Amino acid sequence: MSVIDLNNFTIADAKEALHGKKMSARELVGMYTSQIKKENKKLNAYLEVFEDAEDQAKETDERMARGDEPRALEGIPFAIKDNMLIEGKRTSAASKILEPYVASYDAHVIQKLRDAGAVFLGRTNMDEFAMGSSTENSAFGPTKNPYDTSRVPGGSSGGSAVAVASGMALAGLGSDTGGSIRQPASFCGVVGLKPTYGAVSRSGLIAMASSLDQIGPLAQCVDDTRAVFEVIRGEDKKDATTVSYAEKRPAQKLVIGIPKEYGLEDDIMDADVKDAWMQARKTLEQEGYETKEVTLPYTSYALPLYYIIMPAEVSSNLARFDGIRYGLSHNGKDLLEVYEKSRSRGFGDEARRRILLGTYILSAGYYDAYYAKAQKVRARFIKDFERVFKEVDALLTPTVPSPAFPFGEKLGDPVKMYASDIFTVSANLAGIPALSVPFGKGERDGVSLPLGVQLMAPWFHESTLFDAGRILEKYRE
Ligand code: GLN
Repeated sequence: MSVIDLNNFTIADAKEALHGKKMSARELVGMYTSQIKKENKKLNAYLEVFEDAEDQAKETDERMARGDEPRALEGIPFAIKDNMLIEGKRTSAASKILEPYVASYDAHVIQKLRDAGAVFLGRTNMDEFAMGSSTENSAFGPTKNPYDTSRVPGGSSGGSAVAVASGMALAGLGSDTGGSIRQPASFCGVVGLKPTYGAVSRSGLIAMASSLDQIGPLAQCVDDTRAVFEVIRGEDKKDATTVSYAEKRPAQKLVIGIPKEYGLEDDIMDADVKDAWMQARKTLEQEGYETKEVTLPYTSYALPLYYIIMPAEVSSNLARFDGIRYGLSHNGKDLLEVYEKSRSRGFGDEARRRILLGTYILSAGYYDAYYAKAQKVRARFIKDFERVFKEVDALLTPTVPSPAFPFGEKLGDPVKMYASDIFTVSANLAGIPALSVPFGKGERDGVSLPLGVQLMAPWFHESTLFDAGRILEKYRE
């Protein structure tokens, strides 16, 4: 067998090799585990590599030998963000407070992947409890960007993005509360999808902010992203917000909106990011799409809304980590001291900052001023999108205002870090699907770094994202 370039190897290629018996599933997994052995020490994408990966692949080989019909993701090796439960494996959410925790059941998405024949290579690094934009908030050290190891891979799903970008997994799962799939996808030159809220079950996902969280794929190309999404989506009785997924698609030729408030007229992104965005617009026009400028006047409320609603939900979701029920526990003279010691030693700085902020926002007297008001503004914010999607079928924006930034650049200034989510949080607030596709390059300190553009579509119109994304990715350089 000739040497395979893992950076250009897709799920379709792997299927062809496996189905055509040119390669066994164990050989396929072996290619990835040897790449992990070579690269993971340097990049820290995986927190744990599963020893049973090749055993999982054995089942595929046996099925193929018997001549069984291959399942949708038969033998495909996956990297899983460490906030999704895999039965019998540790799941830490990259936090000290959950370090000893072993999952007692499979998350719904894991069960779905398992049923489709996927192989789990390991669990990947992330910002603690998915809070961050750089993976620097992990309790187990940062993940490095494979294009330049002095730069962040983005976050919070930095581990899964790097695993895919550096040939340490064929595909990955991430979670996206305000951009955590799309932003690292953009920084690492891979494709990332945040599905419609309710399209994918959150059962078995360690909750960050429940009205915003969605699980989605990170992959080498748009078609791979779609292949994973088709497997993981759908109704789940254990998550009442899920629905049975019915694909929607506009009947006529697509019209793409360019929202003015995303920096069309002001200086809120790097010049090469803006060039890439405009080039992507031109590319879609050349391919027969109509584009038009549109307005989303509530955009300026996106970050303030997100940074009120998200910490409120975080503070409530993280209350369950008390030193009694899960993971780390410190002794104390009474119950209160057990709580205090376990929580103060278990949570890192960013988790504590958000718990404090959220507790304040939800406290008597402030609830109405902040949380209730934010919910009202969120309803109006969503109306903005309902209106604009009467005019256009999708929106095109940059994914992040810059390429990957150097370690430490924003760590000391949380507000600066939060600002890197400016283009991504809106899709979570509105619950709409959004896709980041690699498009263009930006040079920093002599290194050529990937850039990305984002497409957003109406609820359940993922297929529109895939159609337009497939065109853009042809011009990814
Ligand atoms: N960067 C955002 C934050 O820090 C988004 C995180 C996420 O999507 N999980 O909250």
